[in-house]
Amino acid sequence: MPKRKAFINKNICVACGCCLKVCPKNAIEIFKGIYAQTHDDKCVGCGLCAKSCPADAIELTKN
Ligand code: SF4
Ligand code: SF4
Repeated sequence: MPKRKAFINKNICVACGCCLKVCPKNAIEIFKGIYAQTHDDKCVGCGLCAKSCPADAIELTKN
């Protein structure tokens, strides 16, 4: 069964950290202070990060 995962567009991300704070699975980290990235093994596809992102940089995809 396909599972939704968060995908962060690093070209749009401004590394504000909002998504990190709302993720219930601690599945996001800021890479080198430049952009956020998700850990697919932890992400459960809840979509909270996408809703919190002021830059609209996160999409939920099927994996
Ligand atoms: S979709 Fe949910 S679990 Fe996955 S990174 Fe975003 S907030 Fe975390
Ligand atoms: S909320 Fe959006 S802009 Fe902010 S760190 Fe997360 S992905 Fe980047």
